[in-house]
Amino acid sequence: MATQTAPSATLPPFRNEPFLDFTLAENKKQMHEALALVESHLGRDYDMIIGGQPIASTSKITSTNPARPAQVIGRHSAADASHVPAAVAAAQAAFTPWSRTTTEERAGFLLRAASLIRERNFEFCAWLTLEVGKNFAEADADVGETIDFLEFYAREALKLASASTPIQFPGERNQLRYVPLGVGAVIPPWNFPLAIMAGMTAAAIVTGNTVVLKPSPDAPTIAARFVALLEEIGLPSGVVNLCVGGPEFGSALVEHPQVRFIAFTGSKAVGLHIHERAARQQPGQHFIKRTILELGGKDAIIVDADADLDLAVEGVAASAFGFNGQKCSACSRAIVHQSIYDVFLDRLTDRVSSIQSGDPAKNFYAGPVINEVAKKRVLTYLDLARVEGRILTGGEAIETPENGFYIAPTVVADVAPTSRLAQEEIFGPVLSVIKSQSFEDSLAIANNTEYGLTGAIYTSSPTKLRRAAEEFQVGNLYLNRKCTGAMVGAHPFGGFNMSGTDSKAGGPDYLLLFTQGKSIAEKLGIATPATDLEESGPGL
Ligand code: NAD
Repeated sequence: MATQTAPSATLPPFRNEPFLDFTLAENKKQMHEALALVESHLGRDYDMIIGGQPIASTSKITSTNPARPAQVIGRHSAADASHVPAAVAAAQAAFTPWSRTTTEERAGFLLRAASLIRERNFEFCAWLTLEVGKNFAEADADVGETIDFLEFYAREALKLASASTPIQFPGERNQLRYVPLGVGAVIPPWNFPLAIMAGMTAAAIVTGNTVVLKPSPDAPTIAARFVALLEEIGLPSGVVNLCVGGPEFGSALVEHPQVRFIAFTGSKAVGLHIHERAARQQPGQHFIKRTILELGGKDAIIVDADADLDLAVEGVAASAFGFNGQKCSACSRAIVHQSIYDVFLDRLTDRVSSIQSGDPAKNFYAGPVINEVAKKRVLTYLDLARVEGRILTGGEAIETPENGFYIAPTVVADVAPTSRLAQEEIFGPVLSVIKSQSFEDSLAIANNTEYGLTGAIYTSSPTKLRRAAEEFQVGNLYLNRKCTGAMVGAHPFGGFNMSGTDSKAGGPDYLLLFTQGKSIAEKLGIATPATDLEESGPGL
């Protein structure tokens, strides 16, 4: 095993990775060069990686560019239920030696991975642009968040390793250790295919667990590139096992009796399915499986009568249409006070109708949705929008010569708070605008869904901000700013209610979810000198 350590004393404090400025000619040039480089690697075959060994299967999952579906990004050996036992066995075999490495060694791997990704930032951005359709800034934010997770969790793991009990009981030596859980399943979504995939994986392994990583079939190549990088830095075989598969593989993995925990980010429907499957004890299973579930949202921005309208229009537009509304944090409901409703709609419509759609590789702001199924789903909601509201801009697909999956950024006005459009996660570039009668009404509408992920409010009233902080029921609340763009460390991320288990990725408590606390009390004076005995009370 490579010896790479990260002594906490020598680590500089964590800071977020700075964003790249793509208005600079040099950065644009490097991005175009990276796209050309990555295009020369497209269409390759990728195997599963189990216990460090490449495993091929005859069935393939083909990943394509959503802007140009004829362009194949990668062809991946598909894992099915029959591959689960070998993948879990490999992770199980790696567990004992890996869990006995020091936290410094494990953190060292994360830091080395962060530094290599930083060196290859443009290349990873290009993979994101081509495999999931991110424009340059969105791709850069995904790569930056990946580096942040690796750097942040390395430091957090070191802190956790030095945890101690708050009290030393007289006559005893008391320890509190956070020990790993065992083998985990890591199941990420396609929309932050590098940051969320790498973040959940990093949190699991830095705390001493080993994993079977099952990336989304819509973004498997980015995961394969990340796993190749882990191999390059010398991560021991079997610590991260890569299996690209669909629901059949995913369900079988979740149910395997030796899978101790499941770190999942994705839709409510799949998250609840996993939660239910994980709750059933399987023959030979000796523990209660832990699920860490981060799910969907129906995020709202309240625009109050006294809001700065320029800020509010910009914040709503950026939150609703950044990456085409395909963020769990995306604003899908704008709740606007009646006194400014019409003027807000006019300004928002002007702003949104000026958004340019086109190929993300040419850095258009609005790109395609991820695949044909997503396009059809969003179009169904646009049909509903014609019934449940009034479409002000957008409302249709955009056809391109390359048959990309484009939908025009769409604003729907006069949507009723309890309509399907206002309640269901659409996960596309569709914003519903709801008129509210008062600030109280806005809060009630905002809280009236089954979700509770992100939310924002624009107002110049400190009293209303304080009330929102108390009464707006979301895991991530933003005051006078957009509701997307959570930064690792500053905005620990996770939702309330059906939005998940509020795990707060990128926060100080996140790594605890991948461990169990072991309390050890030793009576002094038997094996260890009784230096503390004279201070012991009569109870000893
Ligand atoms: P999804 O639920 O369709 O898929 C997520 C993952 O689960 C994929 O890897 C998928 O292959 C896998 N999967 C599907 N069926 C499975 C099964 N039966 N057993 C095990 N695994 C299975 O979600 P998606 O389309 O990839 O991502 C979009 C969703 O993710 C949206 O709902 C979005 O809000 C949510 N999301 C949430 C967060 C968050 O932090 N709360 C972040 C990003 C995305």
